[in-house]
Amino acid sequence: MPPWLPHVDPQLLPQILHLVLASSDEKASEESFAAKRPYEVKEIAGKGKGCIATHSIKRGSVILNERPLLVWRQQLSPDEAEDLASTLDGDVLEILADLSDSAKEYEPDLHPILAIRATNAFNVELPPLPASLKTPTHLKQLATHASMLFPDVARLNHSCLPNADHCINWSDLSMTVYATSDISPGDEILIEYTSALIQADRARRQERLRTMFYFQCRCDACALDDIAGQASDTRREEIDRCIKSIDEDPRDRPKVLEMLGRVQELIKAEGYRAMPEFDSPAVSTAFTMYATRFGKS
Ligand SMILES: [Zn+2]
Repeated sequence: MPPWLPHVDPQLLPQILHLVLASSDEKASEESFAAKRPYEVKEIAGKGKGCIATHSIKRGSVILNERPLLVWRQQLSPDEAEDLASTLDGDVLEILADLSDSAKEYEPDLHPILAIRATNAFNVELPPLPASLKTPTHLKQLATHASMLFPDVARLNHSCLPNADHCINWSDLSMTVYATSDISPGDEILIEYTSALIQADRARRQERLRTMFYFQCRCDACALDDIAGQASDTRREEIDRCIKSIDEDPRDRPKVLEMLGRVQELIKAEGYRAMPEFDSPAVSTAFTMYATRFGKS
């Protein structure tokens, strides 16, 4: 019989989850990690708060690691959100109240807790359960996404030319943010809030960021002047055509290799140093393998 997942009484689930996470937690305590933080949270003109490096941070270094404060369903009615919020502890509510709720400027009728969530949380795609596990029947209706709010990560602003990237570690539910370029003291630490922006010209990026995250992007790529901005748009449009072409015909190996090489050149010319997630997961995987093999990204 394959290994199975236990059937857990939903009322016991939070307690069991705490036990599992606590027993897997070999990491430094929150306080000692906070003491080593290589950045400070500061007011930044026109952006609200952001994270400014206080030390040199080498490419590849971990900048922060934390667990989410909330893991909620993506689709929630105001009543459902209210019910969930009513079970939160006072100190959690205090942390949430200190975060931006700028989504309200775009959707004034949003419930307050949903406005904070919309401004700060990630809509995270849940990976499939391992095929080797015998999944209990009651888990057959699996969610595809969850909304996760990481309070320190929420302080990081977005850039379409980020100097840091983030990933979720499913073994302990934590999010790790790491540098994708060398970062100097005084630089703002910037991540990309969503994937596939490297395939989008300025107008399409702005539209996606406004509708998904409720802000007007004024990052270095979006603030380029007309000539440089047009060159950037042209590069990102060509990257988009290459990705779609690879995705349509992945068996044409010589063409795929040529396209991956071209994408790598264009990404470099764009000044983009993160490992991009394209709108095709298969092409993202192929590009990661290509970039690792040829090591020029
Ligand atoms: Zn931008």
